[in-house]
Amino acid sequence: MHIGYNFIILCFLFLLVACNKDDDAITQPINPSINNDEAKHCSNAQRYDEVLKKCVNICTENEFFDITTEDCRKTMPNPIEEKICQGDLALDKVTSKCACFGRSKEDPINKNCVCEAGAHYSKIDADCVCYNQDKFYNPLYSRCTLFCKEGEELFMLSNGEFQLCVPKCKSGYFYDLSESMCIQKCEGNSYRNRGDAQCTKGKMLSINPEYRIWSILPLLTVDRNPGIYLNIDPRNQPTEEDINKRIKMIKSAINAWLEPLRSSGLGGERFVRDIEVSTDRVIYNSNNVIATVDLLPTKRAYAINSLSRIAVSLSSELGTYIHEFGHLLGFEDLYDQDPHSRLRRLCLTGYDETTTIMCFSSDPFLRSADIEGIQNLYCRFFQNEDPEACAVLQQRLSLAAISSLM
Ligand SMILES: [Zn+2]
Repeated sequence: MHIGYNFIILCFLFLLVACNKDDDAITQPINPSINNDEAKHCSNAQRYDEVLKKCVNICTENEFFDITTEDCRKTMPNPIEEKICQGDLALDKVTSKCACFGRSKEDPINKNCVCEAGAHYSKIDADCVCYNQDKFYNPLYSRCTLFCKEGEELFMLSNGEFQLCVPKCKSGYFYDLSESMCIQKCEGNSYRNRGDAQCTKGKMLSINPEYRIWSILPLLTVDRNPGIYLNIDPRNQPTEEDINKRIKMIKSAINAWLEPLRSSGLGGERFVRDIEVSTDRVIYNSNNVIATVDLLPTKRAYAINSLSRIAVSLSSELGTYIHEFGHLLGFEDLYDQDPHSRLRRLCLTGYDETTTIMCFSSDPFLRSADIEGIQNLYCRFFQNEDPEACAVLQQRLSLAAISSLM
């Protein structure tokens, strides 16, 4: 294009020169100050310009003579050179190399300029531009994100695919997408009823007064050398691996209940760490078998405290073992016994799946009410042997109850 442009300038100059020659022929000597003698006086770096009628600088190869400024000017970068750059790349005038600009990075294989997630390279902008016009480059996430207005914040899945501006919640609250509102983060033994923004204080685990007599907790001390009998119904025909898996689950369930005593300094060291579990009843003398686990051929699980017996099936998971051993320790079921409520997995008022395993038992760990419950139970049995730790516990639990009323 610039060749054409230069050519036009040259033609224009030629025409001017031609016209002036004619004018010279007609009007000479209108301007008597210019004559051939003056042209001869141009220095080596200059030439005599017939149009301007004076000496002007001689332009170099990369320059052209600009008649308006009466001096040499650098020629514009040659567009032919830009065409040499492949793909998205363009000539960097500083380094004279083909390059990507802005936040983009060069893909050396296909010579494209690559942008962050949600953006594409724009040659016109010489930078990455977000595909979606409502989005902007967010350096916090190194990607294009929605622009959220005041009082809102960005909600985004970890892969960045799903983005939404949601109301900013006050401290201790978070926005729940399914309920479209800010809800409190429940801490300790508290839970939230669906539809409520705030948490409700959870109740302590209930202990059946009769169960208290039958609790296996005092029998789990090291000095009693306790053991558990795993009674396998022969119709199960379990493999050795099946049996070992059940033995492991029984040990894990017992330890799950004893761990809050060990970790809180409530004399937890007095309890057995690796309880003996055997499928052969005769290895124990009758005194140290503290419980029997019946492995049923049917899909059932239950506990009979008076017999210190629980029943599980081959399909029972660890959560079920923990729940059933919770009964042997003395804790009651905390789900609504009504068959319709049971289907809907409703817990009794004051309890929730998130606060106790004695409601439903899908996740194999104790919740806040269970931890408080076993600690409280320990002090019912061992208050006299551990008065200081139990006094601290009682103070802590009553303080928690007071703070929930405030
Ligand atoms: Zn139960």
